[in-house]
Amino acid sequence: MPATPLTLQPRPIDASVDHEIQAIVTGSSLSQTCTTDLAAGPWDFDSRPGYGPGSSMGDVIPTGSPRQGELPREYREASEEELHARIIAAKHALGDRVVVLGHFYQREEVVAHADYVGDSFQLAGAAKAHPEAEAIVFCGVHFMAETADLLSGPDQAVILPNLAAGCSMADMADIDQVEECWEQLEELYGPMDRADAEGLVPVVPVTYMNSSAAIKGFVGRHGGIVCTSSNARTVLEWAFARGRRVLFFPDQHLGRNTAKAMGVPLDRMPLWNPRRPMGGNDDAALEDARVILWHGFCSVHRRFSVDQIDRARLEHPGVRVIVHPECPMDVVDAADEAGSTDYIRKAIQAATEPTTFAIGTEINLVQRLAAEHPQHTIFCLDPVVCPCSTMYRIHPGYLAWVLEGLVAGEVRNRITVPADVADPARVALERMLSARPSPQVAP
Ligand code: SF4
Repeated sequence: MPATPLTLQPRPIDASVDHEIQAIVTGSSLSQTCTTDLAAGPWDFDSRPGYGPGSSMGDVIPTGSPRQGELPREYREASEEELHARIIAAKHALGDRVVVLGHFYQREEVVAHADYVGDSFQLAGAAKAHPEAEAIVFCGVHFMAETADLLSGPDQAVILPNLAAGCSMADMADIDQVEECWEQLEELYGPMDRADAEGLVPVVPVTYMNSSAAIKGFVGRHGGIVCTSSNARTVLEWAFARGRRVLFFPDQHLGRNTAKAMGVPLDRMPLWNPRRPMGGNDDAALEDARVILWHGFCSVHRRFSVDQIDRARLEHPGVRVIVHPECPMDVVDAADEAGSTDYIRKAIQAATEPTTFAIGTEINLVQRLAAEHPQHTIFCLDPVVCPCSTMYRIHPGYLAWVLEGLVAGEVRNRITVPADVADPARVALERMLSARPSPQVAP
């Protein structure tokens, strides 16, 4: 599904989460935020440890994660209006030489300047569709910029405006831990490339798009495949047609929710904790496994709860509850529907009668959908304003800084995936693109 092209004219920012946070901090809004630190500029956090304020602030950031150098003072001190005007001017000067991509979860002040808005895979497709652009500025997080680099031309520079915009979920599957896990599983199952009498290998690795290029490369080298939240079921069918088991990373919830919907019993989905020998499992559980779930999660979607759904149903009789499949299983089970960001958008667009929607995904997208569909009542299940910590790192100040760098002939914050990782990672992506739904299912 292609990303949505936007006109170059900025849109009104009446859905701005940033403005709402400022209102909470100054006391002119009675809503709650998870931390008032969100009212500061993200440059205040670039030199500090951790992911910064927002939903991932309690997560442990891996040693050696990319850091952003200091943003020059003129960008830190510029007003919202000044940055807005400077970004427009820089884009005008660059013309077709640059394409700006904005993820659904970006703040409104950044999305206003995006040529395309979409999920990570749609945006990678938009990057691929613009071979004439010298630079692709990816307003999203690190793994998304890596994927755009994998799919774009070798002479195109993919730029991440703030290098500290990682993803806490992607960081939960570290390549060294994954290699170690594979070795331990190989000791138990035998050679991983040896098929049994039915032509099935012991394990097929599957990684969610929300993972580093190193993990996508690992998967490509070991006969595995990438999935998105839209095609996870098709990809698991592909994997079950080739292997006895699936090793799924990094998001345990997407893996569990998808496999459960396919009929895989919960007791055949052990969790692999990379800090414990054999992931914390005994041999029998691993022998019997159909899906081994990596111990990762998204801290945005983990905030949603069954209590929130119960309250929404109590306060809004007839409410339609739609959540993202990165939410925990009990939340998905309690919702009316679960689907990707694209599914959520289309479900709202397709509603012909005024409807009340309670949505379980990142607040910036929910507020934007509410502003775009005033005929419906749309609200976030989580009453506390708590955006994704790392998406939040992309502020208009950084966008202006990288664009003005390009105008001056300087490429700032280029993301490049080395060839030895990129080649197998592309293989894993290509397998995903050619995977088709299959009747071969699972328990
Ligand atoms: S919303 Fe979750 S998966 Fe997406 S970038 Fe933020 S932490 Fe990562």
